[in-house]
Amino acid sequence: MNAPHLTGSALATAHSTIATADLDLQGVSGAPTVLFLDQSGELGGAEFALLPLAAACKARCAVVLLADGPFRTRLEATGVPVSVLADAQVSTIRREALGLGTLRAIPGILRQIRAVAREARRYDVIFLNTQKALVFGALSRPLHRRPVVWFLHDIMTRAHFGRAQLLIVKWLARYGVDRIVANSQASAETLSALAGIPLASIPVIPNGIDAAAFDALDLPHADDRAALRRRFGLPEDAWLAGLFGRLAHWKGQHVALDALVRLPDVHLVLVGSPLFGEDAYAASLRKQAETLGVMDRVHFAGFQDDIPAWMKAMDVIVHTSIDPEPLGRVVIEGLLAGRPVIAAAAGGVLEIIRHRENGLLVQPGDTDGLVDAIEALRRAPDFAAHLAAQGTLDAKREFSLDGYITRMTETIARAARR
Ligand code: UDP
Repeated sequence: MNAPHLTGSALATAHSTIATADLDLQGVSGAPTVLFLDQSGELGGAEFALLPLAAACKARCAVVLLADGPFRTRLEATGVPVSVLADAQVSTIRREALGLGTLRAIPGILRQIRAVAREARRYDVIFLNTQKALVFGALSRPLHRRPVVWFLHDIMTRAHFGRAQLLIVKWLARYGVDRIVANSQASAETLSALAGIPLASIPVIPNGIDAAAFDALDLPHADDRAALRRRFGLPEDAWLAGLFGRLAHWKGQHVALDALVRLPDVHLVLVGSPLFGEDAYAASLRKQAETLGVMDRVHFAGFQDDIPAWMKAMDVIVHTSIDPEPLGRVVIEGLLAGRPVIAAAAGGVLEIIRHRENGLLVQPGDTDGLVDAIEALRRAPDFAAHLAAQGTLDAKREFSLDGYITRMTETIARAARR
């Protein structure tokens, strides 16, 4: 077992002491030490999935980020040791285009591989949480020789990635890691097809979401919701459709704007900001709202921390991704908020929503279908309430935080016993 909090020479000089102390620790908890590696300082779905897992392991783990940002602050706030290994050359590499820039970044990539290996040697298991983390964690494996777990959060197709990246992932998934876990069956199937790995060897562990954060905010009276809306600067009496997620073309916020034209009594609340260089898309949404003449009914809320409260301020939660969603945490959160959910029928969403049982499904990009679904819920509030209630029950059962942490920590422990 390796020590989580010592560095370089300190580790060398104190080696025998650590070994004894660690034996004691091992005896108490029996759990391995873990180094989590994530490429992003931003707060995307993969980072929200890692946050409670790292917090649950904080006594024996650390997180290394390949870029700085608000994710670091969030981890630190939960008491998880975090360090940032940012390399300017490496951070310019983008998922869609691995061209000349990647060649120029080779010295930076080698530096980063060595730096990751140095950190990794101090832990029992290395847990890779994103694609760039996969690259550095897998390529440094011959140097650190630790068991490597990769948590796949992506749909591995051309809709989301460039050819070169798919090729790299195909080989690293086959030969660079010891275990793969996927966040949904949909993600697992695309990786299985890409890399020729049997589906049975990619277990699916969906994200668990803390239902207590949603339950803590009970709004039994209409007045409570009006107060929430006042706090958020939203119209108290309007019928509000909330769309949650970063502003990015594939998340389809433009589809919701198009739908709004045919829903004159509905307001749209867009919660989220462009996280990964999608500023031009965010600007295009404002332009689109102006051109369509719906700007007075669109509320750009930006990134918000208190998602349970924002969701509970809505009448319906809509999800409009035009490409298959790997999982769709926001869809699960919508159910936990006790609001009816309308979601795009593709990818991991099909593992959350059962049409007309716990929500409504609409084909991705189908504006008319979205309009009809919103109208259907407005016309039948009892049906909307029934869907919402069933959705909450389902989400609590199928996406519990405890279940997720237990299954993940078991996976890590099994990898350590490799
Ligand atoms: N989120 C947030 N504030 C925002 C917008 C989104 O905290 O303003 C969170 C949201 O609650 C969810 C996550 O970001 O937990 C997005 O995860 P999802 O799986 O929906 O999408 P991804 O970012 O992985 O594509």
